[in-house]
Amino acid sequence: MSKLYPIRTCVFCRKKELKKKLVRITCFQGKVGLDKEQSLPGRGAYICHEARCIDKLDNPNKIKKLARALRFPLTRERVQLLERELQEFIKRGKHGEG
Ligand SMILES: [Zn+2]
Repeated sequence: MSKLYPIRTCVFCRKKELKKKLVRITCFQGKVGLDKEQSLPGRGAYICHEARCIDKLDNPNKIKKLARALRFPLTRERVQLLERELQEFIKRGKHGEG
C-alpha cells in the first residue's frame, strides 16, 4: 500500500500544497496561534509559508476567511500577534533549513 502525502489548501490563495509545507494556524484553548508541530487538536487552517500569503493578514476579507475556517472571531489584536508569530517562524525557518 502506498503512503499518501496529506494535502491541504491555503485559506488565502487556495493553493494546494503538502501539509508539511504549509503553516497550521489553530485555535486552541481560546488562543489563536501557530501550531508548529501540526498536532494540536481543534480546528485548524493552513496558509502558505510565504510572505505573500502572510501579508494578506492585512486584508479584512482574508481575515474573515481565516476566522470562518477556524470558527473563531479574530480581533485586530489577535491578527497582529499572529502576524508577528508567522514572520518570526518564517525567519527562523529560512535560517535553520537544511
Ligand atoms: Zn497561500
